[in-house]
Amino acid sequence: MPRSLRHGRQMVSIPGPSVIPDRVLAAMHQPMPNIYEGELIDTSNSVLNDLPAIARTTGNVFIAVTNGHGAWEMALTNTLSRGDKVLVLESGVFATNWGQMGETMGIKTQTLPGADRAPVDPDAVETTLRADKAGDIKAILVVQVDTATSVRNDIPAIRAAMDAAGHPALLMVDCIASLGCERFEMDKWGVDVTVAGSQKGLMVPPGLAFVWASPRAMQAYQSADLRTGYWDWGPRSGEDAHYLRYCGTPPIQHIYAMRAALDMLKEEGLENVWWRHQVLADAVRAAIDAWGHASEIEHNITSTAHRSNAVSTVLTGALDADRMREIAEQEAGLVLGINVGDLGNAFRIGHMGHLNPPMLLGTLGTVEACLLQMGVALPVSGVGAAAAEIATGLSPAD
Ligand SMILES: *Cc1c(COP(=O)(O)O)cnc(C)c1O
Repeated sequence: MPRSLRHGRQMVSIPGPSVIPDRVLAAMHQPMPNIYEGELIDTSNSVLNDLPAIARTTGNVFIAVTNGHGAWEMALTNTLSRGDKVLVLESGVFATNWGQMGETMGIKTQTLPGADRAPVDPDAVETTLRADKAGDIKAILVVQVDTATSVRNDIPAIRAAMDAAGHPALLMVDCIASLGCERFEMDKWGVDVTVAGSQKGLMVPPGLAFVWASPRAMQAYQSADLRTGYWDWGPRSGEDAHYLRYCGTPPIQHIYAMRAALDMLKEEGLENVWWRHQVLADAVRAAIDAWGHASEIEHNITSTAHRSNAVSTVLTGALDADRMREIAEQEAGLVLGINVGDLGNAFRIGHMGHLNPPMLLGTLGTVEACLLQMGVALPVSGVGAAAAEIATGLSPAD
């Protein structure tokens, strides 16, 4: 084996799956319980009871044994009918992919074009909805955070645009990258359907996904003819057999993992979780600013107000970002996010979930070392700038 600095625990700084806390891993390490009664059912019920608060809703929540793509399908099949039209608010890649999945199911899509470096424009949403005089648009599909571009869309502003247009479409928000990272207030913001997965801000391995449904979404369910046996909310809401909630054998290890992760979120407090993500994301942004001082490195998202607290997409100009990632992974044990979409030379840093300053500074310091090794001029240290930002989150001396 050639000599290398990579030995030790590999740091995975991709935007999901995120770092799994040891406490969550330990909670999963259990033999099979009785799946029909007893402790597993109690744990599952407690997870179901705690999930609405994570999305800040008093509405219903459904858990599915699937990933984010499955949650997309569950959301659409339970609320829409064949031939219904949805308005896709293009933003990076994920809202578009959600719409394309709908098309395979017989949903028609209209797309409001977006940009790779900016958020969805709420004024354009209002104009589009005002033009829909016949009320053909049944739902709006939007991501809170697009994981490819690292934009954070302004969901309350999009809701306000819908209200200004007086349009009755359901508002469906993909929070797969952002739940547990960014402030999200499902009820207060008037969101009808929220979807998320277990493996990003929620710190659990991939395999579970969640759909939260407002009373209006449950009303739409009554007439939705895209319902299918597996995703159908009806049997999953019943009281009689617990296993129907999962449409079959429950995902036992994932239920234990979710219990541990929800305990961690509760102990820290959701507001504190959001604050921690803000401070750590500010540190990442300070590093990117510093790296860009004398080089072509820059934030993909141009407006500071719309940069996500969960993931940062970094443009590297002429610098070969793939080569940089390769050096980071093979020689230094750091896995960075690949460029998704047509952004040119770019890489992504995930900063979601179970993360603290030593982990994040390790990632930023390793990126800086790789940039230096590739000959990038860095008269200002990104790590220094990040540390200064993190200092603002530490208690002042008495
Ligand atoms: C990760 C992600 C998805 C896809 O989730 P999977 O679990 O990979 O199916 C969808 N939307 C967003 C915003 C994501 O970040």
